[in-house]
Amino acid sequence: MTNVQHTRGTPAIIKKQGNKTLLITWEDGHVSPYSFRYLRQNCPCAGCIDEWTSAKTLNPGSIPLDLEGLKVEPVGGYGLSFSFSDQHATGIYHFDYLREICPCELCRKR
Ligand SMILES: [Zn+2]
Ligand SMILES: [Zn+2]
Repeated sequence: MTNVQHTRGTPAIIKKQGNKTLLITWEDGHVSPYSFRYLRQNCPCAGCIDEWTSAKTLNPGSIPLDLEGLKVEPVGGYGLSFSFSDQHATGIYHFDYLREICPCELCRKR
């Protein structure tokens, strides 16, 4: 068995910009501007994603427009966890996942 790691980099700078935006600058210089609402909508926890089908069980429209990020915490050197203003805080966002869902124009075009 080979355990290939598809790591597309680790964040060099993680910066909360106010309560609505999280900016991640990756080691390769790429900058990802996430809104906390977007992060919440893409929460990877078992309550928001069906573990068997990986389908989203969360209705993205149910997330309040004014959702804020209260806390950003590192998880074991491989990811981040967020506390959102709707009391949700169970998702662990791997760096790879965060990079994958990067909402910038360049990544959206792919
Ligand atoms: Zn969740
Ligand atoms: Zn991007």
